Amino acid sequence: MTNNSSAIQRICILGGGTAGWMTAAALSKVFAEQSIQIELVESESIGTVSVGEATIPQIRAFNHLLGLDEMDFIRHTQGTFKLGIEFIDWYKPGTAYLHPFGPYGANMAGVPFHHYWLKHGCQRPLEDYCLEAMAARAGKFIPVLKRAGAPPRQVNYAFHFDAVAYADYLRKFAEQRGVKRSEGRMQNVVLDPVTGFVQALLMQNGQKIEADFFIDCSGFKGLIIEKALHSGFEDWSHWLPCDRAIAQPCAATEAPKPYTQSIAQAAGWQWRIPLQNRVGNGHVYSSHYVDDDEALRVLHNTMLGAPLAEPNLLRWQTGRRREPWKKNCVAIGLSAGFLEPLESTGIQLIQSAISRLLSLFPDKSFAAETIDTYNRYSSLEMEQIRDFIILHYKANERQDADFWRYCRTMKVPDSLKDKIQLYRQTGRIFRENNELFSEISWLSVLNGQGIFPESYHPLADQFPAAKLDAQLAMLQQQVADSVAEMPGHADFIAHNCQANSS
Ligand SMILES: Cc1cc2nc3c(=O)[nH]c(=O)nc-3n(C[C@H](O)[C@H](O)[C@H](O)COP(=O)(O)OP(=O)(O)OC[C@H]3O[C@@H](n4cnc5c(N)ncnc54)[C@H](O)[C@@H]3O)c2cc1C
Repeated sequence: MTNNSSAIQRICILGGGTAGWMTAAALSKVFAEQSIQIELVESESIGTVSVGEATIPQIRAFNHLLGLDEMDFIRHTQGTFKLGIEFIDWYKPGTAYLHPFGPYGANMAGVPFHHYWLKHGCQRPLEDYCLEAMAARAGKFIPVLKRAGAPPRQVNYAFHFDAVAYADYLRKFAEQRGVKRSEGRMQNVVLDPVTGFVQALLMQNGQKIEADFFIDCSGFKGLIIEKALHSGFEDWSHWLPCDRAIAQPCAATEAPKPYTQSIAQAAGWQWRIPLQNRVGNGHVYSSHYVDDDEALRVLHNTMLGAPLAEPNLLRWQTGRRREPWKKNCVAIGLSAGFLEPLESTGIQLIQSAISRLLSLFPDKSFAAETIDTYNRYSSLEMEQIRDFIILHYKANERQDADFWRYCRTMKVPDSLKDKIQLYRQTGRIFRENNELFSEISWLSVLNGQGIFPESYHPLADQFPAAKLDAQLAMLQQQVADSVAEMPGHADFIAHNCQANSS
């Protein structure tokens, strides 16, 4: 049993980017009634990556944990709503599909909807049966749909926001709950010569910051977890060859779309993230296939508005830290590894790391079983997301560039190969071990990337053709009618959460 003397009393978080402040905010909220001191160290002169502006719906659970008022949070972060991601030119030039956050149609007699859609000969696009997809296409948004004669329907959505404003918002939240912020540059990590545990961070100004438990949110460098503790890194760049991005915001030229856009380019892809006051743009590319000057030219050629800041070049190695928790240090955020931002999973990985840490929160004994469990689940989560992202690259029919030829012919992990094979042969998709991306997500991308099943679930044949016709028409009509009743995305923002200034 834990007694008071073995309880963690001091926590030090190194880094004040999205990871650092999300962690500080969550810990300050959860430990509000306990006398744990939390100190966050960050350096304004080093700064943050200042990207990470598109999220997935799970972030709403994080906001809920903190007890945030959603409209206040949107107002302070120049936020907009996100119903999914549009992938343009990914399968081949001239194609576009959505990965929406909501379901297609409805399961019938226990069989997923898409089997009926397959049986019906895919007569209408799959998107026509998804409320979130059709609302996105129509530029509509409402959090909860209330229609006469029907129960309220929670819409599945996430947010786009200004990354710097988000960290700032969480900083205020955490500081109000007692988190101490120390400005300064960390120079060295002091380790116990016997145990190898972290004793303190040594700052450039000579200050020594001691704690029982350290959370490394120092970004790609992993200053504690890697530079001091040598956790090791598993490189996945042979599967995900993009290793750089140039980010640059521009002026908005239209009302914000309620979805992110991802546009394939010759050696990678480009994002467009609409905020209230600007559009975030970035070109993610493989430095093996294109140089930085050409990558910037591509970004500028496709940017819709006037640039609002200098371009920000970011470099990384794709992969994961082998032991994100080692001794008395847990790495959260980019210090724990990075999968490129194609499916907006960076912030989600921070969030799930925080909740995993809370459920396995240690005492000063730092039991090996606790650490192993944390690391095992962290690794599984990243591998599952990795497979989903690889699918977008692997299943392409682009004939225009070496980068895409490489991706199409590369050997993929067996776990992904099996998943594609199962879908191709039977139309079936299995969500394994509660993985982050659901059957809907896998279906959207498998279908959007041109993978077509050879058969469908045999139980879908139980519906006679006429009944199936009527059922599909009814489901599609319901979606169309619901979307017609929703307000425009820009109108919803203007009436509920307009940011005060730019
Ligand atoms: C190109 C790109 C696009 C992305 N897009 C998305 C997206 O759309 N959605 C999404 O969910 N995620 C996205 N991500 C991931 C997301 O940006 C990160 O997960 C998130 O910003 C967390 O970063 P961080 O806090 O770990 O690191 P950083 O932002 O790098 O913060 C590191 C912190 O450590 C501090 N620090 C470093 N060294 C020292 C030192 N010596 N002394 C003191 N302090 C120090 C820095 O000052 C800073 O405060 C993207 C990432 C990249 C690279």
